[in-house]
Amino acid sequence: MQKVIVIGGGVVGISCALKLQDEGYEVTVLDPGKPGEGASWASCGSIAVSEVVPLSKPGTMRRAPGWMLDPTGPLTLRAGSALRVLPWFLRFAGNARASQIDKISREISALTRTALADTQAFLGALGLSDLLRHQPVIELYDSAQDLEHERVFHDARRALGFELEEISGAQAAELEPSIASDFACAVVLKDWRSVVDAKRFVVDLHKVFVERGGKTERVGAKGFVREDHKVTAVHDDKGDAHIADQFVIAAGAYSRRLAAELDCPIQMEGVIGYQTSFVDPGVTVEHGLIYAKGGFGITPYESGLAIAGSIEFAHLDAQPNWKRADILVQKAKRVVPDLETRNGERRFGRRPLTPDTKPIIGKVPGMHNVMLATGHGQLGVTLAATTGRLVSEMMTGRQTEIDMSAYKADRF
Ligand SMILES: Cc1cc2nc3c(=O)[nH]c(=O)nc-3n(C[C@H](O)[C@H](O)[C@H](O)COP(=O)(O)OP(=O)(O)OC[C@H]3O[C@@H](n4cnc5c(N)ncnc54)[C@H](O)[C@@H]3O)c2cc1C
Repeated sequence: MQKVIVIGGGVVGISCALKLQDEGYEVTVLDPGKPGEGASWASCGSIAVSEVVPLSKPGTMRRAPGWMLDPTGPLTLRAGSALRVLPWFLRFAGNARASQIDKISREISALTRTALADTQAFLGALGLSDLLRHQPVIELYDSAQDLEHERVFHDARRALGFELEEISGAQAAELEPSIASDFACAVVLKDWRSVVDAKRFVVDLHKVFVERGGKTERVGAKGFVREDHKVTAVHDDKGDAHIADQFVIAAGAYSRRLAAELDCPIQMEGVIGYQTSFVDPGVTVEHGLIYAKGGFGITPYESGLAIAGSIEFAHLDAQPNWKRADILVQKAKRVVPDLETRNGERRFGRRPLTPDTKPIIGKVPGMHNVMLATGHGQLGVTLAATTGRLVSEMMTGRQTEIDMSAYKADRF
């Protein structure tokens, strides 16, 4: 039986590990932390299938300077990070051209188009269908003008086959009575779903992986043993070597360092986001909610109502700035005025974000037996099952349904 080592036990790594088990591989996951403790656990948990327009879209570029000057704004750059981020940012800005926005949207939608079906099939086969909620997600707008700014992107999503329905603020309040009554309008993202719990999602997947004979080692990968164009083993941070036939690097934002060890420079920032969840929020919320103006989402998890968002560029080893999580909680009262904000539990994660918002899925250039499955940015939960399927198809030499060249590591 061929052995595979998956480096990283976040939602992407565990999904790859499970799909590779299906193919008959003996799979070991290396992760110094608990499964899903990285970005996966801090997420809004949306299966955000129509989130295909890249982040470099014109609205972002126009508003970014104002956001950065506002200490409570949704986007920030830590002191000392500017020079390091510059090459990433220049490439990001280059992707703001209309032709690029259109091209990237199509490339991301080629992945997200099947994401809900992939997730449903994946969970169903594992007996975990209860991990998905049935309700769509609602995006809320203060004014018709705010919606008007976004309409061009909503139309682009519709043109790609996704379903979005504009409704009035009053209709939104009928669907979700806990929200403020003065939203002007809303968009129901009809083909989105949410996971029932960001933490349980990964924990349960990991449980099944172990029940099916998968191994997890609580170590971090540090370097590789190479022979010609192959890796034969990975060294961990305790000095041990782990031998395998195939390797998958799925270490989220930390994948960049591991890829660099294999002479594969990828452009990817670990963009910090925060989540605070409330076990007793004092309100009932049934749908995932997005308040884009505030830069956050609200998701009803089994473990509590979660407020998650914020975009913070900082060094990979930087400590979290919990004030940013608190700002989101204050702003959440705009959406759910009766929210009780006692005893919130806070966490943070680093979204692995490429300058073109596309993930990196495919072989490390020049290496026959190492694949990258990373760079999912704000779409890691959405694309985990799809990525697992594609990685398993590629590793077994099967033809993928879609052209994978758009997600190659050497595009940087
Ligand atoms: C606030 C916020 C909201 C979000 N909302 C959504 C959403 O609604 N929908 C959506 O689809 N996505 C969302 N995301 C994005 C999503 O969470 C990420 O894209 C996804 O979690 C990335 O998964 P991952 O497995 O690649 O990385 P991670 O979950 O970060 O996992 C990487 C793992 O690799 C391990 N690791 C690191 N270094 C090493 C090493 N050297 N050796 C071994 N293991 C290592 C880490 O310990 C970690 O467990 C959100 C993210 C945030 C922060």
